[in-house]
Amino acid sequence: MEKFIIVGKNVSGLEKFMIDNNQSKFRAKQVYNWIYLKSVKTFDDMTDLPVQTRELLKEKAVLTSLSIKDKQVSKDGTIKYLFELKDGACVESVLMRFDNRANLTACISTQVGCAMNCSFCATAKLGFKRNLTSEEIVQQIFLIQSDTGLKVTNIVYMGQGEPLLNIDNMLESIKIFREQFQVGARRITVSTCGIIPGIEKLMNINFQSTLAISLHAPDNEIREKIMPVAKKYKFDSLIETLQKYTEKTSRRVTIEYVLIKDVNDSLEDAKKLAFAISKLKSNVNLIIYNQNEKSPYKRPEKNNILKFKYILEASGKKVTVRLERGADIDAACGQLSLKQASK
Ligand code: SAH
Repeated sequence: MEKFIIVGKNVSGLEKFMIDNNQSKFRAKQVYNWIYLKSVKTFDDMTDLPVQTRELLKEKAVLTSLSIKDKQVSKDGTIKYLFELKDGACVESVLMRFDNRANLTACISTQVGCAMNCSFCATAKLGFKRNLTSEEIVQQIFLIQSDTGLKVTNIVYMGQGEPLLNIDNMLESIKIFREQFQVGARRITVSTCGIIPGIEKLMNINFQSTLAISLHAPDNEIREKIMPVAKKYKFDSLIETLQKYTEKTSRRVTIEYVLIKDVNDSLEDAKKLAFAISKLKSNVNLIIYNQNEKSPYKRPEKNNILKFKYILEASGKKVTVRLERGADIDAACGQLSLKQASK
């Protein structure tokens, strides 16, 4: 018989398992605390459970269906995990520490591969395989915590895949992070390439985590060239939808913009972008293009980055430039391509 997978199940799922196996319902809560607050590695570590319950768990259940296949540590302290799923497929997650902050941010995946085919992104080259289940999404954080012994304080859905094309599992995983792992809604960010129906759904449930949009262009013409999704969901409709989103949720959105040399980094582009989002309640996060073997693009000159930033700031936006982490181990944005999976 298939073993029952524990990490990522909601409380009632685990309570049912306990009751079905003649255990008190209360054991579920104990197991939950060990998993979500302490991230123990084995059932034997759950020392306040009766031996008989631990034996039952060992016989009939497993903590995770994911396993750590490989792990690389960058010279800046960033760790990239390669996880193997039950069907042999792999996904990556990245754990980042920032020296000047107490935060520990994990970047997690929602799909095996990605179907969006953005021309600058290494993950796109993998193609799309399947959605992750909510358990598989949750297990990434659990395994990072049990491996490092540290508590993840911030979660970004910016790994492989398009979260809004796996929206139900994404939302279920957020529910578990909030209720079980006790990560606050405001410490969770979901990034999308601009799937309008997904944004509308989040708007209707009054989503309280941060929504980030990979805009990456000041107009539809440039956007279509680098992001095929713009052919389906047009630039203007996207901005309009975001406008409604910020009104309904009272939450500011983050506009992500990856600066690529001679593609979208001119000062004209900066002005156009400033104008396009002038009425949108938003902050801007500039990402300096990370080169990867499979794309011809280059990163912009430093001077250009500063000018681009200045133009947006002068228009009244708060602008940050994303700190580059883990580029030496291909863990930076757009570099998650399972390079070491075939080792
Ligand atoms: N599919 C979602 C989640 C991925 S987030 C989305 O598109 O938002 C990963 C972020 O890194 C996205 O903003 C993506 O556009 C960006 N990115 C992709 N390739 C990159 C590269 N080579 N350099 C810098 N950023 C890149």
